[in-house]
Amino acid sequence: MRKKIVAGNWKMNLTRDQGLLLVEQVLSNLSKQNTQLVFAPNYLSLYKIAKMCNNYENVKVAAQNCSKDLKGAFTGEVSAEMVASCSADYVIIGHSERRTEFNETNAVLAEKVNRALEHDLKVIFCCGESLPQRKEKAHFDWVKQQLLESVFHLSLVQIKEIVIAYEPIWAIGTGKTASLAQAQEMHAFIRNLLAEKYGEQIAVNSSILYGGSCKPSNAKDLFAQKDIDGGLIGGASLNAKDFLAIIKAF
Ligand code: PEP
Repeated sequence: MRKKIVAGNWKMNLTRDQGLLLVEQVLSNLSKQNTQLVFAPNYLSLYKIAKMCNNYENVKVAAQNCSKDLKGAFTGEVSAEMVASCSADYVIIGHSERRTEFNETNAVLAEKVNRALEHDLKVIFCCGESLPQRKEKAHFDWVKQQLLESVFHLSLVQIKEIVIAYEPIWAIGTGKTASLAQAQEMHAFIRNLLAEKYGEQIAVNSSILYGGSCKPSNAKDLFAQKDIDGGLIGGASLNAKDFLAIIKAF
C-alpha cells in the first residue's frame, strides 16, 4: 500500500521560535494517524525540528532544497550531505519557485535528485505547468518532460525513494485550486507514466501528492481522489489549526 503523506512547505516563513512553536502545537494535537506528516522548515531549524519529531514514527522532516554540488566553494549553498547530517528524511526538489526565481532547469534538478539519493534522502519532486501551458493544452507534455529529464533516469530501486508532487503553478499561493477532475486527471497521467517506465508495481506503490492552495475546506475532496495520496501544503501549513485539519482530512 502506498503512503498517504501531508507535507508542509514553510518556504521563507517563520523564525526559529515561531517554527518550533508550530511544531510543538501540531505534535501535541496529533491523534494516532496513518498519514505521514512532513515538516519542511528552513535549514536553520532543520536539526532541532528533526530531534523534536524523532519519537514520532510517522513524522518526518524535509529540507526545501539542496545543492547540486557535493561540497566546496559554493558560498551560501547547503549540500545534501549537510541536510542528511541534520537527521532530515526528505528534500524537496524542483519547486516552481526554485525553477523560476533561481533558474533551476530540469538538468540541474536531475543532479540535485542524484545528490539527495546518494545521501539516503528521499525526494519530494515537484512538477507542474503554468497557466498559459494549460491553456495551450501543453500541460501533460510539460509535466512528462519534467519527469523524463529530472527523475526517469533513476533505477527501479532509486525511484522508490521519490514522492512526486503535482503542483500546477497557477494554483500555488493563489487561492485557486485545481478542480478535482483536473488534479485527478494529472495524477492518473503521472501514475501511468510511472507504470510505463517502471512497471505496475512501482506505479501502484508510489505516492503522488497534490499542491496548490490545498486547505482545510478542500483537502478532504482532493484526498478522496483515486490517485491523490496527500498534499504538499504551503500557506495552510503555517498555522497548526489548518495544518492539523488537513492532516485529519484523510
Ligand atoms: C507550495 O508552495 O508548494 C504550495 C502548494 O503552496 P500553497 O499551498 O500556498 O498554494
